[in-house]
Amino acid sequence: MNVSVVLFTSDLRLHDHPPLRAALDGSSAVVPLFVRDRAVDTAGFAAPNRLAFLADCLRDLDTGLRERGGHLVFRSGDVVDQVCRVVREADADDVHMAAGASAYAHRREERLRTALESEGRRLHVHDTVITALAPGAVTPAASDHFAVFTPYFRHWARQQPRNVLGAPRAVPVQEGIGSEALPRRGDLSALSEGLAEGGEREGRTRLTAWLRSGIGSYEDRHDDLPGDATSRLSPHLHFGTLSPVELVHRARKAGGPGAEAFVRQLAWRDFHHQVLAARPDAGTTDYRTRRDLWRSQTSAARDIDAWKEGRTGYPVVDAAMRQLRYEGWMHNRGRLLTASFLTKTLYVDWRVGARHFLELLVDGDIANNQLNWQWVAGTGTDTRPNRVLNPVLQGKRYDPDGTYVRRWVPELEGLDGAAVHEPWKLKGLERAAHDYPEPIVELADGLARFRHARGRA
Ligand SMILES: Cc1cc2nc3c(=O)[nH]c(=O)nc-3n(C[C@H](O)[C@H](O)[C@H](O)COP(=O)(O)OP(=O)(O)OC[C@H]3O[C@@H](n4cnc5c(N)ncnc54)[C@H](O)[C@@H]3O)c2cc1C
Repeated sequence: MNVSVVLFTSDLRLHDHPPLRAALDGSSAVVPLFVRDRAVDTAGFAAPNRLAFLADCLRDLDTGLRERGGHLVFRSGDVVDQVCRVVREADADDVHMAAGASAYAHRREERLRTALESEGRRLHVHDTVITALAPGAVTPAASDHFAVFTPYFRHWARQQPRNVLGAPRAVPVQEGIGSEALPRRGDLSALSEGLAEGGEREGRTRLTAWLRSGIGSYEDRHDDLPGDATSRLSPHLHFGTLSPVELVHRARKAGGPGAEAFVRQLAWRDFHHQVLAARPDAGTTDYRTRRDLWRSQTSAARDIDAWKEGRTGYPVVDAAMRQLRYEGWMHNRGRLLTASFLTKTLYVDWRVGARHFLELLVDGDIANNQLNWQWVAGTGTDTRPNRVLNPVLQGKRYDPDGTYVRRWVPELEGLDGAAVHEPWKLKGLERAAHDYPEPIVELADGLARFRHARGRA
């Protein structure tokens, strides 16, 4: 009997899953395996919000497998050791898994390949599981990756993604392989109270609702902060409970300007993955350095804390930062303006902000988080690296009635309309009536004029 192990990583689904399909086609039984990788914990990447969402995803994956006659094997420890153990216990010949884009994913693949081959077994790494097009599938003439989104998108849009695979009807598994108990969301503390639910079933329900009643107005409403009119599918893409290939096909089938704009965002996701795959160091070092001398974290400590806590005195910045803490998610416009405020206004290193986002974001990943931070900071792929987003103008433009600010900053809920974006303009008693901080910096064209002689050292 030929047995294959399917190692699930960031692809926690049964629909459109090329490694699982290949394993089922080539063997009489499979072992669906997830390893809680010690290296992810050691690297400080196992944030409680993502662990909670992951627990939902694993339970849902296990349920889906049980409905098809199988079940999930869950182990923890070093991923290579654990896979090799399971391979030996099952006497499997092959291991199938999805290709990853990060430096860590590449090292994991290499270590796994070497270890398996030394025992006469094979590793099969499948593209287009985590991204719609594989990194490197389209390249410019003179480089191994695109450094600018617009030409990338032109090439990307001309490619036809592979066909979508259905979920298998049955998953015959090799019995007798021991599993640790699956984690539970309830085992974790320090979670965001408003954290979304994980799992493929939940992802597919959201996707259906989005295609039916959200995507049509996406082009017009994607920047509407109070309207909250984006798909909120990012955690499902991050954990792979939804397939990007399937999303591209189904959005294109829905058609119209909203669908086109949505597909373009999926291409941004692929774009960042192909940059990271070619430049793995971009997760930590400037993609295009501008030799910024960021303020030292000691001199900026008070401002950094105020930013993290949502107490900068700039209402739309504070609203977005509080949304992040409460939900483990933030609207894209909020991410743009809070990141600009930290890097361009307060002149704090993008890595400080990226780290804080990764501690809380349920969709937080190296490709999208670090490269978007670099884009905003002007050290990344933005062709206008000097762009600065003024938080007052951003608030008035994307939250014109102040509804978003009042939702997240209760101290200001008594203020009407757009007045909420400039509470410092209120006079006397009205001003004293709300317990909201004064702005931590004065602005001139979005840039700070530091009040306490805090230099840019
Ligand atoms: C500073 C900063 C940090 C970010 N960190 C992350 C992160 O860690 N993880 C993450 O998935 N996204 C990140 N983004 C991108 C974007 O903000 C989120 O993907 C988006 O807000 C998720 O909401 P949604 O699913 O409703 O998006 P929608 O607007 O519905 O878009 C659909 C999908 O397209 C992809 N997408 C949209 N915008 C981008 C983008 N700019 N870059 C890459 N992919 C995009 C996402 O997968 C998203 O789910 C970041 C953006 C900024 C400015």
